[in-house]
Amino acid sequence: MRWDQGHESEDVEDRRGEGGAGGGGMGFGGFGGMRVGFGGLVVLGILSFVFKVDLISPFLGGGGSMAPVTARREPRPSSAQENTLAKFVGFVLDDAQNTWTKILPEQQGVSYRKARLVLFRDAVRSGCGDAEGAMGPFYCPADERVYIDLNFYDELKRKFGAPGDFAQAYVIAHELGHHLQNVLGIERKVRMLQERNPRAQKLLSVLMELQADCFAGIWAHETQQRGLLESGDVDEALKAASAVGDDHIQQMTTGRVRPENFTHGSSAQRKEWFARGFETGKVSACNTFAEN
Ligand SMILES: [Zn+2]
Repeated sequence: MRWDQGHESEDVEDRRGEGGAGGGGMGFGGFGGMRVGFGGLVVLGILSFVFKVDLISPFLGGGGSMAPVTARREPRPSSAQENTLAKFVGFVLDDAQNTWTKILPEQQGVSYRKARLVLFRDAVRSGCGDAEGAMGPFYCPADERVYIDLNFYDELKRKFGAPGDFAQAYVIAHELGHHLQNVLGIERKVRMLQERNPRAQKLLSVLMELQADCFAGIWAHETQQRGLLESGDVDEALKAASAVGDDHIQQMTTGRVRPENFTHGSSAQRKEWFARGFETGKVSACNTFAEN
């Protein structure tokens, strides 16, 4: 992707030097369906998490125990490579948000309001609870922020076999897709539906995720219109979308595929909805709920 390496984003909060959220883990179930993650990466997070002791509960309120507090992590200095990545993320964020500021009123008659993006390392405290980098990037509707630990990109490349700058851009665009769902009131409606109908929870979650992929595709469509795409970029995004499909992740982690446990959609579905957004460039083409 062509991008301006000197770009500075005003909407990025760099919390990489803060040494995490102060604890060694996070309390599960503390914020149910609130956080919207990037992929079934949560599964990987759980695998690494179950071996850890929960030290964070005292911070979440309610628990009055006197559990010991772990030492703050020593902040590591960021490498030049990581700082370039941080700049890239800021460029993508601004480009995508400028795109939505322009096309959301045109297409939906709704004005866009900007989200912010938090860079963190290892652990972070968000408006949706404490989270670990190992759980993958996520969007928190309560504070309208996208959270990403840049180490995730290493994982995307090595564990998921999805390298490339446009694969990285797709991750940000997908999370902003969740912000768009918030701006459009879709997130609220779906959360209410999920509360009323627990059995449809996973299906609704899949449809939300696929819609975020479709919205990411719309941004990719716009970047193509403006000549920012280089050859191979779209393939990188499609490959990343496919790599984080539930079937692929289940296969990697448990060796078997259980469609009834999908929360983000299969590799084929994620690719397909990204492509729909990319080909049409239209929000109206992203109604994943209409066909279900
Ligand atoms: Zn998502």
